[in-house]
Amino acid sequence: MIIILKPETDQREIDHLTETLESQGVTVNPVYGTELVILGLVGDTSKIDASRVEANRIVERVMYVAEPFKKANKMFHPEQTAVRVQGQEIGAQKLAVIAGPCSVETEEQITLVAREVKKAGAGFLRGGAFKPRTSPYAFQGLQYEGLKLLARAREHTGLPIVSEIMSPRDIDAFSEAVDIIQVGARNMQNFDLLKELSQINKPILLKRGLAATIEEWLMSAEYLMAGGNTNVILCERGIRTFETYTRNTLDLSAILAIKKMSHLPVIVDPSHATGKWWMVPALSKAAVAVGADGLIIEVHNDPDHALCDGQQSIKPDGFQMLMSELRVIAAAVGRTL
Ligand code: PEP
Ligand code: MN
Repeated sequence: MIIILKPETDQREIDHLTETLESQGVTVNPVYGTELVILGLVGDTSKIDASRVEANRIVERVMYVAEPFKKANKMFHPEQTAVRVQGQEIGAQKLAVIAGPCSVETEEQITLVAREVKKAGAGFLRGGAFKPRTSPYAFQGLQYEGLKLLARAREHTGLPIVSEIMSPRDIDAFSEAVDIIQVGARNMQNFDLLKELSQINKPILLKRGLAATIEEWLMSAEYLMAGGNTNVILCERGIRTFETYTRNTLDLSAILAIKKMSHLPVIVDPSHATGKWWMVPALSKAAVAVGADGLIIEVHNDPDHALCDGQQSIKPDGFQMLMSELRVIAAAVGRTL
């Protein structure tokens, strides 16, 4: 961190600021120029609140040299992280494919889709039990009953389960019922939820917020990791832009940015990114081509009658075809499926 001081600052005030900063565990190296004084901070600056430093009236500007996220930062952890889930790895050479309906509807539906996606080669089953719907009148999910049905689908197929949590009060129920806890886009900055989830070891699938910058997204990962849960998988699911043709705008460049900035695995959700089922196969292939570690795809046996997100769900036969096409793209970028 570099702090530029206002011209003609009194030396006593510089000494006072230096003392305050050094009491927070960093070393302050002053540089005296003809016009300006610059303080260079060396050490772990993660606990220094830049906005508080900037509030000091002798401070002109604060600049970051290193990113504010530390545990998620590739600079301090150059090897790629692979998150282990029931004998599988997300972030390793083999791509992780998570597939299933937006929400669990009935035992028949979830079991049937689970069997179909497994047959096509998916490694994980998704299914929402608690749904974050825009309208309070829309289907809210089967909730605890949904978790039970997911557990049953896991018994039938052996597929690990991915499902979204909405409240810290459900952490025990989710720890029991699911293998990866999803934090949805709407909760990416629910810091109380993140803090609670940082206290457990369960892998967390952290979706990018609706309008979150890459740095904000990594800072949310940092919340999980700072509390001790390093099993974090990131998920790009499209962001809000001025474009309305698609539900969101899929930011594939974020995958390259994450790969440069962080060691955490990152996957892509082309279903929520576009809101259109017919865009899902091509964008899944594009995601693998740019280096995503996997995909999370909505698959429904009867999208026309789905209780949630039928318009963006592909059918099991479409999923099967996509998987065979993905094998070719994966091989071209040195991955397996
Ligand atoms: C979901 O995966 O079902 C979901 C609601 O996704 P998002 O949080 O990305 O909107
Ligand atoms: Mn959905």
